[in-house]
Amino acid sequence: MRDTYLPYGKQMLDDADIEAVVNVLKGDYLTTGPMIKQFEERMAKYVGAQYAVAFTNGTAALHGACFAAGIGEDDEVITSPITFAASANCVLYQGGIVVFADIDQQTYNIDPTEIEKKITSKTKAIIPVHFTGQPVQLDAIHRLAKEHNLVVIEDAAHALGATYQGEKIGALSDMTMFSFHPVKHITTGEGGIITTNSKEYYEKLMQFRSHGITRNSNLLTENHGPWYYDMQFLGYNYRMTDIQAALGCSQLDKLGSFVKRRKEIVAAYNEAFSDLLEVQTPYQHIDTDSSWHLYILKLNLDTLSVSRKEVFEELHKMNIGVNVHYIPVHTLSYYQELGYKRGSLPKSEQMYEEIISLPLFPLMQEQDIQDVIDTVKYVIKKVKK
Ligand SMILES: *Cc1c(COP(=O)(O)O)cnc(C)c1O
Repeated sequence: MRDTYLPYGKQMLDDADIEAVVNVLKGDYLTTGPMIKQFEERMAKYVGAQYAVAFTNGTAALHGACFAAGIGEDDEVITSPITFAASANCVLYQGGIVVFADIDQQTYNIDPTEIEKKITSKTKAIIPVHFTGQPVQLDAIHRLAKEHNLVVIEDAAHALGATYQGEKIGALSDMTMFSFHPVKHITTGEGGIITTNSKEYYEKLMQFRSHGITRNSNLLTENHGPWYYDMQFLGYNYRMTDIQAALGCSQLDKLGSFVKRRKEIVAAYNEAFSDLLEVQTPYQHIDTDSSWHLYILKLNLDTLSVSRKEVFEELHKMNIGVNVHYIPVHTLSYYQELGYKRGSLPKSEQMYEEIISLPLFPLMQEQDIQDVIDTVKYVIKKVKK
């Protein structure tokens, strides 16, 4: 057994990252300075989008996207229940109604045929989540969006570096959100961004993240002089600092090697577990190249004498920090109080009972990978029927 606890995810920082941050601390601008613009330009270029707007975190970025998309009171927005609460909460911030559509049992991603069933005359947008880093079926989703005049906001918190039909995630829909929380592909401590090809969305996002205030003379209806600004709608202070943006730029230099390392770990897991009858390794759709934020092992519960909880606890006892992604959002207390019903999304609810996420992060050493493999095999052998 390992003598130290292995978490499921962790950042990887080097001296260049630390130097980048220190340089900002020694400079003139801690916020609203040149590093923000540089980070935005580099992120936009990386994903192939025209614009990017950085935010304090991914959740704030999603809030901004919902605002820019014009989501308001009683507008319906469709998303997946197998996601972090933020993908749905951003709709509620705007007074909208969250409508959950069930998942595809192979990819665990939102299923376009389930989306179609949930579209009504009040539907305004779809927020598909590239769960684990594997892109959703964007072709089918874009077809529905076009037919019903819907905005598509991709939640790509897991999918920086992923591709769909050979094209990078980040410039394929109206807006795309990435998160820079420490467990994600690159980190800024806390941070998020929206990438888009629309100038209109870009301008709204810029104004939204800074109180709804603008100094842009083209947008002002009066102008008292060089000091003048106007607040034209209720925005927030959702600005990222230059300290964070400098870290983001430095981390972006390493994204390619981070994704490569994640893929190596995934290949080792797939090889180790593919002939284990008690578990199912992740399915990869032919149209997608995942950037592997998460590695999910599905337990074939009818071959085991215990539930997922016991497997989870056994692994934790042996210092393997497995996790569960996610508790279906509609079953959380707040959503239950809003009236969402258990049993309404059976595929998501069933999947939730069967899954564990294995440790997966670039800093993992060969011995860490081997420890995960050996411990999972040991525990499965112990609890199989
Ligand atoms: C991390 C995450 C978010 C929110 O990002 P934060 O930066 O933590 O606010 C949203 N959606 C998904 C799927 C995430 O994993």
